[in-house]
Amino acid sequence: MAGVSKNARIGSGTHKFLCPCGGEIKMKSVFAKGRMKHHAECEKCKRTERRPSDFK
Ligand SMILES: [Zn+2]
Repeated sequence: MAGVSKNARIGSGTHKFLCPCGGEIKMKSVFAKGRMKHHAECEKCKRTERRPSDFK
């Protein structure tokens, strides 16, 4: 569990992240160059980050 931010709260049920814009962040999987790549995307502003905790 190294690298887990203090801000990442786990234990409130489902994994849910919110973008600063108020939109809900969804995990997306993209198959590219023979590999699965995962990224997080805000539904509202379409901002993408590598992981949900990068939205700040
Ligand atoms: Zn957003």
